[in-house]
Amino acid sequence: MKIFSFSNFSSHFVLLIFLLAFAGCRSSQTSSSDSEDIVKLTFLHINDVYEIAGVSGGKYGNFARVAQLKKELLKENPNTYLILSGDFLNPSVLGTLKLNGKRISGEQMIDVMNAAKMDFVTFGNHEFDLKENEVLERINESDFEWIASNTFYYKDGKIQPFTRKGKKLPTYLTIEPKNPKGESIKVGILGITTQYNQPDFVRYTDEYETTKNVYQEIESKTDFTVALTHLLENEDEKLAGIVPQLKLLMGGHDHENMKFTYGKTIMAKADANARTAYIHRLTYNKKTKELKIDSELKSIDSSIDYEPITKAAIEKWNKIADSVFNVQGFNPDREIYKLKEPLEARESLIRSQQTNAGTLIVNAMASAFPNTELAILGSGSVRLDDQLIGIVTEYDVLRMLPFGGKIYQFTTSGDILIQYLDAGTKNKGSGGYLQYQEKLKFDAEKGWLLDGQKINPKRQYTLVTNDYNLSGRETNMEFMNMKTNKEITNVISSDDSKSPQSDIRKAVIVYLEQL
Ligand SMILES: [Zn+2]
Repeated sequence: MKIFSFSNFSSHFVLLIFLLAFAGCRSSQTSSSDSEDIVKLTFLHINDVYEIAGVSGGKYGNFARVAQLKKELLKENPNTYLILSGDFLNPSVLGTLKLNGKRISGEQMIDVMNAAKMDFVTFGNHEFDLKENEVLERINESDFEWIASNTFYYKDGKIQPFTRKGKKLPTYLTIEPKNPKGESIKVGILGITTQYNQPDFVRYTDEYETTKNVYQEIESKTDFTVALTHLLENEDEKLAGIVPQLKLLMGGHDHENMKFTYGKTIMAKADANARTAYIHRLTYNKKTKELKIDSELKSIDSSIDYEPITKAAIEKWNKIADSVFNVQGFNPDREIYKLKEPLEARESLIRSQQTNAGTLIVNAMASAFPNTELAILGSGSVRLDDQLIGIVTEYDVLRMLPFGGKIYQFTTSGDILIQYLDAGTKNKGSGGYLQYQEKLKFDAEKGWLLDGQKINPKRQYTLVTNDYNLSGRETNMEFMNMKTNKEITNVISSDDSKSPQSDIRKAVIVYLEQL
């Protein structure tokens, strides 16, 4: 505790009087003429949003709240822009559903983002999970601008910009906010995307070289430049090192909020699914050319109202989803469990190591059958690419395992089991990486141990996995085809839609209810 002596108090008092007097004289100096030179610019920045209606049973996130926040910020400053730094068209359980015989594939997201009056986005890696025609359709449906500095369309052997409503996507954008005198400044905005996802129809130019080149092209035409980035944190840092003139990197790809200053560049990211948003308030003095950036991390929760137009768009899509889920026997809004710690299902982790979400799912699969020795699942079946926090609803289970599908018990030799597990190790970094129960361990000297015992190649084992892992379609697991491999025997599942064996999501829901 701090104790003030009298002398300390008096010196503070004198200082206070002095500061007040000084502040008074400062404010009379920074009169209207100075503040009229100042251009105010606000970016409302979100990143990695897969859910239109929020997460944790709607407690956090929701585009209608983001839209309302933009409306309020517009009252504070007419130069306000809503931006999303990539990853929004996929994954989502809504996107996997079919409407009029066609997969929704992010159409719900564009519709809701249009309603929320999104201003600018850049591509994230997940946009290119969709098929070529789906990506082209989604861009065309959008009323907002896509800034694509280093991301291009590859068609008929030619690298060209993607187009939106007949116009090429820009490699940079210039906005011209005004000060109270009506004088404008020019602010450059770039959009940089990681090269992580490489489908045939997409080509990237180098993130760092491109940023440098585009910046040099616009430097003389702008007062300052910022960027939307969809990169890993260390890549943002590298970018700021190579183009230190960039004032602000509004990032994505990492799913947890962060803010760093690299040299004179500020880099910030909000939490995934708009659990939070960053509000960047920029003030630029046109006379002194001084730029100040004040970044506030804002929780998107019940303290913010729902903007009605966006809310109606979300409800329309949720109705479509609910009707499909009800037919399948799910009740999306039902709360089934309260998590004591976050459930980790981010792809960057679950595709290369065992996580607690993986363990929970395989335990649920094992409990759906009476005599299972070990349950195994390819991590690619888990499509949340996020953490689950707090209340788990049936909808959370649906979005964690959007493909659903049957689970099977089967018998096979230890020899096949070892090949299966080794293939999973080989698939590290991709969806073929396996999640399994904690009773299985790998020992560098002894090999695979089940309940502490070395797996015996000659013994038969009773295992559980899902339909995809028994289809032989997984990378390095062609031999795991239950239809062609004679060593996969005693295959059991259920067609009864009430049975947890009939759908992996039902198995998880039943298991969570029993915890
Ligand atoms: Zn990403």
